[in-house]
Amino acid sequence: MRFSKLRLTGFKSFVDPTDLIIADGLTGVVGPNGCGKSNLLEALRWVMGETRAKAMRGGGMEDVIFAGTASRSARNFAEVSLQIDNSERLAPSGFNEADQLDIVRRITRDVGSAYKANTRDVRAKDVQMLFADASTGAHSPALVRQGQISELINAKPKARRRVLEEAAGISGLYQRRHEAELK
Ligand code: ATP
Ligand code: MG
Repeated sequence: MRFSKLRLTGFKSFVDPTDLIIADGLTGVVGPNGCGKSNLLEALRWVMGETRAKAMRGGGMEDVIFAGTASRSARNFAEVSLQIDNSERLAPSGFNEADQLDIVRRITRDVGSAYKANTRDVRAKDVQMLFADASTGAHSPALVRQGQISELINAKPKARRRVLEEAAGISGLYQRRHEAELK
């Protein structure tokens, strides 16, 4: 699964629809302090099913919605869409019918989050499971937040083990086993 585009609408500082094209190879995001670099990474985490407001640097989940500035009024919803190149059909069954997979998450004030996969309604759980493996995933060590390296160095052994498990690709398995046990 290769990510090809991230589109943000009303998400944090990205009030107008903004596309981040993710080309082959390395994509760098540069800009002055406060321009929204970390917000982009958070948008990626969020569309993959992040549920912890703290991971989004907010007090509540609705804090990801554009809150308004002196010149622009606040929005009622935020939407992030992630375009995935699925021409190799690497997505799991249920997501695997087309060359391109569009995962969309929208949060509306007082309503909450809804997810779509290629315009079909899906559950948060379905999206989280789609990305549960170590190479992707909202909690994947591949998405390195600002300050995370120093946190890791200072972490207690148990917390550090969790990161290693993610890196080894077994945390997705834990999640699936947990799912299976619930059924
Ligand atoms: P740095 O280089 O300092 O790490 P950065 O490029 O990572 O900066 P971000 O932290 O992504 O910047 O963006 C911060 C900006 O996003 C701030 O100006 C903040 O006001 C704005 N912002 C965050 N949440 C919202 C929101 N809900 N509505 C409007 N603006 C927001
Ligand atoms: Mg930052």
